[in-house]
Amino acid sequence: MNHASPMNLPFVPADLAGQVAVITGAGGVLCSELARALAHAGMKVALLDLNLAAAEAVAARLRDEGCHAIGLAADVLERASLETAAAAVLQQLGPCSVLLNGAGGNHPKGTTTKEWLEPADLTDKTLTSFFDLDPAGIGFVFNLNFLGTLLPTQVFAQQMLTADGTARPGCSVINVSSMNAFCPLTKIPAYSAAKAAVSNFTQWLAVHFCKVGIRVNALAPGFFLTAQNHKLLFDEASGEPTARAGKILAHTPMGRFGEAAELTGTMLWLASSAASGFVNGVVVPVDGGFSAYSGV
Ligand code: NAD
Repeated sequence: MNHASPMNLPFVPADLAGQVAVITGAGGVLCSELARALAHAGMKVALLDLNLAAAEAVAARLRDEGCHAIGLAADVLERASLETAAAAVLQQLGPCSVLLNGAGGNHPKGTTTKEWLEPADLTDKTLTSFFDLDPAGIGFVFNLNFLGTLLPTQVFAQQMLTADGTARPGCSVINVSSMNAFCPLTKIPAYSAAKAAVSNFTQWLAVHFCKVGIRVNALAPGFFLTAQNHKLLFDEASGEPTARAGKILAHTPMGRFGEAAELTGTMLWLASSAASGFVNGVVVPVDGGFSAYSGV
């Protein structure tokens, strides 16, 4: 950092400065903000995305803000592509200490039209019912979220290990799960199950990596209002919440959507071994109370 940070971080863990963070999906809405927080905590950040232009745009903005950031093309589903990015990270920044597995998402082909299957739906060809779900769509969503978390970890966790087989102090992996991992949301069976797999894998890997000293945790964001989903959540003409947004808000005790910046404190806490060194294998909801509320 070569000038005062313009970012109002909730706290700045001192142990992150000078270390290297790799963020996948870093061209996206939430992960660009999380990457920004890591960069403003003094980390050298590598922004990986399938969309190189998006990753480079975020990196350029961070450099303008005085941070150390590079944008790299990488497909989290292609090991060779990740290996190429890993070589560039090592050469340009040094070995990765914090991996944030942010790339993920849903696909319409893994989504039913309606919340419930009703008898008349079986003959309605305009609907995508459970019986119409496309295996390719389901596979896409599973791969992107689950395999897209596992493969980057295989590649970048190796940079955390030293010659004696143990990790450098302070290394950790942070995955991105979701509310629907705790209790599936209607209409999105593939995304819900894939994020449940991410939460399950977070616990498995935390145990598996214990003896080499890499912590593994996850964020479970609730519902965040972003530029992309604004039109889905609010009627453009009236400005009122759509029916689905209304249901989300009614089930969120705090009665509002989250803002991307509200994920940063939890992420910095998980990234910092000084702050959370004995926290391992947890999936932390950041959800305005959504997962705590039964609806009654
Ligand atoms: P986003 O769509 O804005 O960003 C996702 C990024 O991942 C995009 O830049 C995209 O180019 C990239 N990407 C897609 N496929 C890729 C691949 N194969 N390899 C590398 N990069 C790829 O999404 P977002 O809303 O910022 O979500 C980020 C993460 O948070 C995702 O894992 C998402 O499932 C999760 N999440 C989001 C919300 C929310 O409310 N937005 C809630 C819970 C969880």
